[in-house]
Amino acid sequence: MRIRVPWKVWREAGWSWLYPNWCHLCDEERAQADNGYIGDRCLSRVKFVEPPFCQRCGLPFQGALSTPFECDHCREESFGFEFARASVIANETVRLALHQYKYHRALWMEPCLNQWLVSRAVPALAHQGWTSIVPVPLHPVRYREREFNQATRLARCLGAALGIPVRDDWMVRTTPTPTQTRLNRRERSNNVQGAFGAVKHASAKNQSVIIVDDILTTGATTNAVAHIVQKLGAKRVCVWTLARAVL
Ligand SMILES: [Zn+2]
Ligand SMILES: [Zn+2]
Repeated sequence: MRIRVPWKVWREAGWSWLYPNWCHLCDEERAQADNGYIGDRCLSRVKFVEPPFCQRCGLPFQGALSTPFECDHCREESFGFEFARASVIANETVRLALHQYKYHRALWMEPCLNQWLVSRAVPALAHQGWTSIVPVPLHPVRYREREFNQATRLARCLGAALGIPVRDDWMVRTTPTPTQTRLNRRERSNNVQGAFGAVKHASAKNQSVIIVDDILTTGATTNAVAHIVQKLGAKRVCVWTLARAVL
């Protein structure tokens, strides 16, 4: 029997063979497989989210603040989640790594991304009684294009680290939402309205749910997902993303 190897696999194999020890982000420094082929200089540019930040949406705040605060956006908005937090700042280096991972299946970076995710998420969430993890769903058309839902992969890693199940069977993405990169806050919110739907007979009754995604920008996408999880009966909902855009 002939086994068909997808061309993407050949491309990945070729890439690692051609550039075995060079940083896959900047192409200018040596790098090791252990670090996901991200060199020391690029790794040093990865910044973890440190307090102070908005207690609601997790937006980091420049300067000294010792009391809890909410940012201007959160005072106007009503989110369907208790709080959103992230592990790292979505700066240029992190965005590039996520882009390679999402759109070019740079699976060799996955252990590194997983490490960034769990090193911050596990200590923060471990003893808060969370019972399920829901990744932000990808539309089937997008899944066929990419064969990859980064949110599900990150959710599985966090689920294993926390010892709680991943529920990717509660909801679906009903519209292949176009990219949000060029949209402002209001447009993003409108763009994802009705983009998700609950699966028939799904129930999140009495569950405390962590929604997982790769990046949080305005919170519009995770908010839409949070509202569905709430409708399914969840008693608590929070959000954890690998990266946080600082707008
Ligand atoms: Zn580099
Ligand atoms: Zn906020």
